[in-house]
Amino acid sequence: MLLTQPKIENTGSQYLQPLSEVAGETSPNQILAPLTARVNHRDHLEVGGCDVTELLAQFGSPLYILDEQTLRTSCRQYRDSFLRHYPGESQVIYASKAWSCLAVCAVIASEGIGFDVVSGGELQTTLQAGVSADRIYFHGNNKSQAELQFAYDTGCTVMVDNWLELEMLSAIATPQAPIPIMVRLTPGIECHTHEYIRTGHLDSKFGFDPHQLAQVFAWIRDRPQLKFIGLHAHIGSQIFERQPHQDLGGVMVEWLQSAIASGLQVESLNIGGGLGICYTEADDPPSIDEWVGAACRAVVKACETHNLPLPKLMSEPGRSLIGSACVTAYTVGSRKEIPGLRTYVAVDGGMSDNPRPITYQSLYQPILANRMSAPLSETVTVAGKHCESGDVLIKDTQLPKTQTGDVLVVLGTGAYNYSMASNYNRIPRPAAAIVNEGEANLILERETYADLIRQDRLPDRLRDR
Ligand code: PLP
Repeated sequence: MLLTQPKIENTGSQYLQPLSEVAGETSPNQILAPLTARVNHRDHLEVGGCDVTELLAQFGSPLYILDEQTLRTSCRQYRDSFLRHYPGESQVIYASKAWSCLAVCAVIASEGIGFDVVSGGELQTTLQAGVSADRIYFHGNNKSQAELQFAYDTGCTVMVDNWLELEMLSAIATPQAPIPIMVRLTPGIECHTHEYIRTGHLDSKFGFDPHQLAQVFAWIRDRPQLKFIGLHAHIGSQIFERQPHQDLGGVMVEWLQSAIASGLQVESLNIGGGLGICYTEADDPPSIDEWVGAACRAVVKACETHNLPLPKLMSEPGRSLIGSACVTAYTVGSRKEIPGLRTYVAVDGGMSDNPRPITYQSLYQPILANRMSAPLSETVTVAGKHCESGDVLIKDTQLPKTQTGDVLVVLGTGAYNYSMASNYNRIPRPAAAIVNEGEANLILERETYADLIRQDRLPDRLRDR
């Protein structure tokens, strides 16, 4: 039987079908393709009003294509959901590890979102995008002295992860100019896609063990150069359940109570990120609004139970803010048919621009973007071009019969693709373009061979041998 390729249109599309509605809007984390994905009169995929095939002709292949409207919608849904469900102050922070570059930071900052950074490089990028330091939170389990000094000099808040950091910060800051800190804890709540367990101790390299809380609070209280703001925890990523974050809210409010009992003033509670997105049609995450609502209700209830004023509630989504806003477009190259076994269709990228499949066995959904109405007629494995057998983007997927030169699009590549990209096999990183209402702008230049050897040095004694 010939199936048709999944349709992308205004209505009736299985990729655009809203799975649930938030104030009349589709939750971007619940759909496979960006909100603006359409099929145009040439039977081509269009994103942000731009023909994907033409984008490849203009910017080269492969190409990350970021849909501004989807990204802004995610930001607004997070922000508005907190306003709707939380009676206290709230702040949404973007986990910029998902994708850090100037344009991405600028769009997200313009929506009133703060930033979580985990390195001096991410901090530099965020600052250079024009974000003010009072909206930046510096994470990491092994920040260097130089990174801590950088954080202090710029005035951002440090998410303290361990005792060494507490000591280093105490030496850097002064009582006249204290450094704002939040303390990261390992909550002992583990998440899996379909189940979660609570344990007394979580095996994680991040954060303080809650058993050390009293000691940590007393230590901070005695150091006026440290300005305690509140507590942080992050329990995992690509989570589809609401219960773990509800539990987390309750546990963290108990910790806040301990902080207050230790004589500290508490302002904020940060419940981390972790909401999942749809990578394939089998994925069924809650909407942004449902997830935020569940977490807010848990925190409000716990505060009522413990008779505590509501803290400023923060969360730091990465994947669910930007994941669905981007697609990667490739050009189809060679084909290898192994009768009775498998057909490989190779594209001009792979594990260097999207390391998630080889790293986490992540699943993705492809579309043939230059022949959108072509029927699905064969099962193929989409392989990358790297010298690694495991460099497979999508295993055993249904596509129309592909030809060399076809444009193959992989959906949902906004999070942890560009940011985890490498130059494996000395392949230059792709360009990225942002699209909106028919306009496309380059936001990341394609790397060149010259870029690849820019940092290389050839000592004289190794020349001319
Ligand atoms: N916060 C912290 C501390 C993280 O480590 C991460 C991701 O690993 C995030 C937030 C973002 O998580 P996600 O992209 O799943 O929302």
